[in-house]
Amino acid sequence: MAEQEYDYDLFVIGAGSGGVRASRIAASHGARVAVAEEYRVGGTCVIRGCVPKKLLVYGSHFAEELQDASNYGWTVEKMHFDWPTLRDAVLKDVDRLNDAYTTTLENNKVERFLERATITGPHGVRLASGRDITAKYILVATGAWPLMPEFEGNEHCITSNEVFHLPELPRRIVIQGAGYIALEFAGIFNALGSAVTVVNRSDAILRGYDETLRDRLLQITMARGITYRFNCPITKVEKQEDGCLHVWVKGAQDPIPADAVLVATGRRPNVAGLGLETAGVELGERGEIRVDDTAKTTCDSIYAVGDVTDRVQLTPVAIREGHAFADRVFGNKDVRIDYACIPSAVFSQPPLAGVGLTEGQARNAYGNVKVYSSDFRPMKNIFAHRPERGLYKMIVDAQTDRVLGIHMIGPDSPEILQAAAIAVKAGLTKADFDATVALHPSMAEELVLMR
Ligand code: FAD
Repeated sequence: MAEQEYDYDLFVIGAGSGGVRASRIAASHGARVAVAEEYRVGGTCVIRGCVPKKLLVYGSHFAEELQDASNYGWTVEKMHFDWPTLRDAVLKDVDRLNDAYTTTLENNKVERFLERATITGPHGVRLASGRDITAKYILVATGAWPLMPEFEGNEHCITSNEVFHLPELPRRIVIQGAGYIALEFAGIFNALGSAVTVVNRSDAILRGYDETLRDRLLQITMARGITYRFNCPITKVEKQEDGCLHVWVKGAQDPIPADAVLVATGRRPNVAGLGLETAGVELGERGEIRVDDTAKTTCDSIYAVGDVTDRVQLTPVAIREGHAFADRVFGNKDVRIDYACIPSAVFSQPPLAGVGLTEGQARNAYGNVKVYSSDFRPMKNIFAHRPERGLYKMIVDAQTDRVLGIHMIGPDSPEILQAAAIAVKAGLTKADFDATVALHPSMAEELVLMR
């Protein structure tokens, strides 16, 4: 088929972080672009992920701030929290963002189809309404979907998709999983006053993060009142006549009573029923779309970016991948993604953030490493009579003095880490950190004071 005979130069499936960026940049390079979205423009991050979650974290922080306020001379009378007010304000902001992303597509002359799309061949897409469309290139940016394990009564459980819409604040919530999404919601509900029980299949939390920090988070959150049940996956959930849920976990004599059960046990690439087989697009072991380092799948005209490729499931990565794809295919720029030193955070309470190698990874890769740490009680915690301590760790290559990783837990650690990540990415040495004068008084100054 000659180029001009295709309906579009690019058809994007999924208007999330990666899809919207790829659409906009491809259009700015002069491509005729259309995008299909089956739910809401903006995708997981904006509609039911990072953004609404962070707003709930902000909302729940007031519990601590208001408690501390009296130390600073403030009297706050009649403190009361109203879940529907916070929930509706968050959902209103989600509407605003949905509109903003839609406007971005409109301004860039990207045609939108607000319906599901499936692939019918290397250049073919079918919309749910039945319309067939052709495109020179297809970009699959369909994201990932929460996994719901098989157990009796799992229909009574919710995932992160539904948690933002809860009709009321659960008095008791059981959260299955100990990854970042599970622990962020554990922190939110704990701060808002729910009794939180985290149940997990293994005996570890936050796999992949630095071990000392994980341990610190566990200690602090237990002291804050979160209950953990390890090696105890849910086996059954029974709904009682009064609406109470009885959560049975492996090996338990009695059920855990709950008003809501949130399952956060991972997210799987969103490929079901997508028609990938019609174009010879192959999947990997975890069901992810296999791509090369230019985001090309096993079909020459079909590319994939973001969570559906299951490389690093983070918004800024999906955005970069979408941008790089559009620049390469339509902008004649050979941009590749560098996956080293991607910073990430867990918005738990307190939050945790890291970049580069953990101590264990660095020892495996470099053998001889030096570990510097600062275990300190932040000024605001001392003033609030809060015993919680922050912990910063810096991992350094003993031979070259290069900083290989920084990991931290404590108030505002994600905000601090983003700046420190620039130094790690740039390959700066411990001596460069030492040569930097501290900014006092701050928590971040610990980064340049570790000896
Ligand atoms: P998505 O943004 O998921 O977009 C995919 C889109 O495709 C969706 O809108 C979907 O409806 C649509 N779609 C799927 N199939 C079809 C089809 N057949 N036809 C039409 N449309 C279709 N990341 C961070 O970096 N920081 C965080 O703090 C963070 N917090 C998170 C919290 C939660 C609760 C969750 C669930 C995720 C969080 N993430 C976070 C991850 C982040 O949201 C994802 O990495 C990111 O959204 C991936 O972007 P994407 O473009 O690959 O997919």
